[in-house]
This record gives sequence, C-alpha cells and structure tokens, in this order.
Amino acid sequence: MKIAVIGGTHGNEPVGIEVMKHLKQNKPKGCLHDYECFLGNPRAYEEGKRFIDTDLNRTFGKNGERKGYEGDQSAALSKEIQGKFDFILDLHTTTSNMGLTLLLNNDHENTRNAAAYLKELMPEIKIIEGMRLGEECPYTNNMAQAGLTVEVGPVANNVLDSALILATNKMVTAILEWDFKSDIDLKEVEHFKSIGEYTFPKTGDWYVHPSLERADFVELHPSDPVFINMDEEVIGFEYEHSVYPYFVNEAAYLNDNLVMTMGIKRKGFN
Ligand SMILES: [Zn+2]
Repeated sequence: MKIAVIGGTHGNEPVGIEVMKHLKQNKPKGCLHDYECFLGNPRAYEEGKRFIDTDLNRTFGKNGERKGYEGDQSAALSKEIQGKFDFILDLHTTTSNMGLTLLLNNDHENTRNAAAYLKELMPEIKIIEGMRLGEECPYTNNMAQAGLTVEVGPVANNVLDSALILATNKMVTAILEWDFKSDIDLKEVEHFKSIGEYTFPKTGDWYVHPSLERADFVELHPSDPVFINMDEEVIGFEYEHSVYPYFVNEAAYLNDNLVMTMGIKRKGFN
C-alpha cells in the first residue's frame, strides 16, 4: 500500500505538521507500507494562516475551486499524489471540543475498515461520515480512492498541544503498522453521519449559548438553547428532531456564519 501523510493543509494547524515532520525522519518500527509526507500549504504555514488566497481543502474533486496560491499548490499536490497513492491521511486540528475524530469522505472499503480499526484500538475516537462523498468532496482526500481526515481538538490555531500531537502520531503510526486486513466494518460500528450545518441568525449580535459551547457530540434537542445575546435573550434550537452537534463554534467556520455541523448517530454507511 502507498500512503500519503499530509500535514498543514491548513497552515495554522501545526499539530499535524509536527507529526508529519517526525514521520519524515522516523519510520515506525513495524511499518508495513511505503509512505511519503507532504506539507500541504507551506506559505500559509510560514505565515501562520489557514490559507493565503483560498481554502486548500476546498480545491479538489469536481467541485474544487482552484485559484490564487492554493490553486497552484492544489495542482502541484495532485501531480505528486493523484493516482500514485492508495490511501491518504490528512492531519487537521479544530478549535472545537471534538477530541479525536476521523472524518470519512468516501465509502472505500479501506477507508471504512481503517476507521473501524482505529476505533477498536482507541475507543475514544469518534467517526463522522461526511456530507459530501467521493467526487462531491473537495478535500485533499479526493486525491486517492481511500483515506481519512483526522481532526483533533480543542486547540487554538498555531498552538502545539502535546497530548494532541502524541494522539495524532499514535493514530497515524497504527495505520502504517496495520495490514489493512480487518473483519470489522463500519456496518457494526456506531458513528455519526453529517446531515447539515446550522447558521447564526441573520440579524442581531448572537453568541453560542454556554450550554452548547464545548458540548460537541452531546445530543441537542429541539428548543434546547443555541444562542444568547448581551441582554441574555436566548434562542432555542429550531429543528424537527434531535441532532449531535460538532465543529461547535469552530473558529474557521465563523466567516461562513456557521455555528455547528449537525449529525445523526447510525450504523452502516451511505
Ligand atoms: Zn484543518
């Protein structure tokens, strides 16, 4: 198996970059695969920014929009990775309280089995099936048929959190030392399926309510508090059923007016 390990797809998420740099110099003892390490967005990393011109992690697949510096970087990475690697591990962090999370953006057997295998090894891991799968997905993972986006948090942008660095390294090393043979499939593993995003009200100055802040993966029921303003007025959750929120108040999503991603719990896939 040829595996690409990508750190720094977002330049202000140095946890994954530390792991990627370490793996560049130190091959895991039990490594069973050929792997190569890539720094996703070198200029954004130098400047400590998520991106320079546009989000690199939205430039792949058929919906990917390539422009500016990240457009060039996306094309360069595709040239090196597309068609040459079987599996991608893309290492991210989030400012949200999500712990160790794996985001799945395709239904390839190796993707599903790798997530199930890591979850068996580290039960605290949460697995999220993304909203846009396969060609619909504009993430770096689209450069190979199979792969995982690793999201760990909470950590502020540009901060090196040692616990998250070690945990990320443990997950990546486990995959590199694994033979991809597994009887466990996600069919038997409970995970989250993203169903939509929730946005801030269009008018007024609203903040995420304290009871929702840091409550990623805690069931949110209709009319539970979601927003609060300076007058301590509260707006409840307007939705037809309960959801599991994640990426709650993620710093990078504020520009898009997003409060959280909503998921449901389920087994199976697609
Ligand atoms: Zn990221």
